[in-house]
Amino acid sequence: MPDTIFSKIIAGDIPCHRVHEDEHTLAFLDIGPLSRGHTLLIPKEPAETLDQLSDDAAAAIGRVLPRITRAVLAATGATACNILQNNGPAAGQEVMHVHFHVIPSFDNHPEGTGLQKQWTPGTAPADAADLAADIARRVTD
Ligand code: AMP
Repeated sequence: MPDTIFSKIIAGDIPCHRVHEDEHTLAFLDIGPLSRGHTLLIPKEPAETLDQLSDDAAAAIGRVLPRITRAVLAATGATACNILQNNGPAAGQEVMHVHFHVIPSFDNHPEGTGLQKQWTPGTAPADAADLAADIARRVTD
């Protein structure tokens, strides 16, 4: 996997405002925050997208993500937040190293109100049962 801004941050070649680091993960402030406290949590494992992440790295992320979220909420006073995780350029991913955004929400804040949910729900497809079964049989252990 080619170097990314995040692999350079992990290596210490680019500075960051670090909020947490352990053997498998690193969390730091987003350089272009949507709101105060917008934080990124990344695995140290060099995977581009979530589907490429090993079980061990995923477990390490899963263990620390709620802790980072609690800390961000406590430090900012926000009572709500979004966890955003983009995979692939078509989904808006710009840095090709897995990362989770922790984005506090505010009703009104000079540093931004956070991620405003904007989507238009569709209707369930006629073949929803087949689709679910197809996905289910592709889930690996
Ligand atoms: P995404 O669009 O999900 O790939 O998000 C990439 C995020 O990385 C954006 O929110 C950027 O603001 C953030 N970002 C890019 N470079 C840096 C950096 N050097 N330090 C911290 N955050 C960064």
